[in-house]
Amino acid sequence: MVRTGEQYLAGLRDSRNVVYDGRLIEDVTTEPGFRRTAKAVAQFYDFQNDPNLQDLMTYETEDGDRAGMAFIEPRSIEDLRRRGDAMAAWAEVTCGLMGRSPDYMNSVMMAIGAKEEAWGYLDKQIGVNARQSYLDARRNDSCITHTIVPMFGDKSVPAEERDTTLREVDIGSEGPILTGAKGVGTLAVFSDLNVLFGAFGLPEDGDPAQAISAVHPVAADGLFWVCRDTFDGEKSEFDAPLSSRGLDEMDTVAIYENAEFKKSNFFVYRDVANANALMMHMKFFDTIGQHILVRYIAKTRFMLGLAHLLAESSQVNQFFNVQERLGEFATWLEALEALYTAAIEGAFRDPDNGLFYPNRKAVMSAIRLFAEWNRQMISHFISIGASGLVSVPQEKTLDMFSENIGKYFSGAGGQDSKERVSLFRMAWDLAGSSWGGRNELYERFFTGDSQRAIANTYLRMDKSEAVDIIRRMLLPGENGHPFPLPEKFGGPALPPLVEDTEECLD
Ligand SMILES: Cc1cc2nc3c(=O)[nH]c(=O)nc-3n(C[C@H](O)[C@H](O)[C@H](O)COP(=O)(O)OP(=O)(O)OC[C@H]3O[C@@H](n4cnc5c(N)ncnc54)[C@H](O)[C@@H]3O)c2cc1C
Repeated sequence: MVRTGEQYLAGLRDSRNVVYDGRLIEDVTTEPGFRRTAKAVAQFYDFQNDPNLQDLMTYETEDGDRAGMAFIEPRSIEDLRRRGDAMAAWAEVTCGLMGRSPDYMNSVMMAIGAKEEAWGYLDKQIGVNARQSYLDARRNDSCITHTIVPMFGDKSVPAEERDTTLREVDIGSEGPILTGAKGVGTLAVFSDLNVLFGAFGLPEDGDPAQAISAVHPVAADGLFWVCRDTFDGEKSEFDAPLSSRGLDEMDTVAIYENAEFKKSNFFVYRDVANANALMMHMKFFDTIGQHILVRYIAKTRFMLGLAHLLAESSQVNQFFNVQERLGEFATWLEALEALYTAAIEGAFRDPDNGLFYPNRKAVMSAIRLFAEWNRQMISHFISIGASGLVSVPQEKTLDMFSENIGKYFSGAGGQDSKERVSLFRMAWDLAGSSWGGRNELYERFFTGDSQRAIANTYLRMDKSEAVDIIRRMLLPGENGHPFPLPEKFGGPALPPLVEDTEECLD
């Protein structure tokens, strides 16, 4: 089934415990500061329901039903292309600014369902649960969040030893009872389901009560979604050109206080080995990387357009240093597009289930590089916009002034004052508002700490090929030729190598 926006909104009006500013929110679809995000997600559902977009946004399942394209099990590179085209369409609508549109986690649900054998290697029923959760989510066209990281706390103590860490504390008449907290659940208050990833990186003899993962309802007794401040100040679209459009996905801490779930919700249950291998098993990043990369492209194209118009509006694009910054936007966009081509055309077929996954090297490079590129693009907006970013009266103020006062706010070449101010307000929303600050934080951390990830890329990489080049070039040329040949082309054998002793950061 493919839901409409109205059906999605109706589903949010349930018994979920959304905690905000000292109270429980009755209805997120009507609550100021929340309601516009609910509407933005609803628009996604209406978009995929548009009869003209049906073939782009949905596909026919093996049950003869139609489902959102992100649920597709890619059996060919063409299927990956179709999934990417649907993701790109919605990313284009939202300028790549909605990190957690439903298609993000829908593809992850597919990845969970596609590994029935891996989850069920000890207990077949656990594998069946995983498959069934995927099929149910697909059938119900569910909007899904996920909670992975432990509560942000004392990092000098391993997470598994902290008493705040989520674990099974008892077994009730329905199933496992959980207590503890999970750090961040973005979009949780606007979702139907949560994929709870339990602990990973546990020692082999680690606590099995923490080695649990489940797909469970967001609305559950004993489960509280504790919200940060809303960054939707309910301003007009002129005054807050981005954050007024329902783009505050809301981040929460998930607190489980004796929350009981059905055993059939669990796809890892008291299984340390599976919990530790979870991300690799399901090819989490390989899968989700397609959505991320598609969104990066849409966001970078949007930022290039905005930076260009901002610079034109004050004619600072005549300066070489500004041109170079604008050139960086363009180069990053082209690099991301090239990585996307590599991700899809260099896709990998998993022999275990016959499904195709985007090329891991391509998606991981994009994820690791974009955190820094995004930071630099945000910094470029500050450099290019300068005091223009604060010379931005509200729409009502501009309306209040007569023509001759309005002229002070107009742009180069007689650009209308409202047009110039709205451009600069858009740049400020992105680079300086509280919503923009959260957006930058998100890009830096949502797939993990990018600094450590890049360090680990270096530490984990097989560097022997690169090192052999240097060892060969330390040799003299042979037979009057300046270049010693590599051994495989008949050159000399290289001396044995000293063992690599580097360790990875956890
Ligand atoms: C806006 C936002 C939305 C998010 N949404 C979700 C979500 O929906 N679901 C979800 O599961 N998660 C979500 N996350 C969490 C995200 O996965 C984590 O932020 C990320 O994994 C980093 O973990 P952390 O925040 O605990 O920070 P840490 O990893 O603890 O990093 C904090 C600082 O300490 C340093 N540091 C920590 N440990 C080490 C070490 N061993 N060696 C060297 N340096 C170290 C880091 O470099 C960094 O500077 C979200 C995060 C943000 C910011």
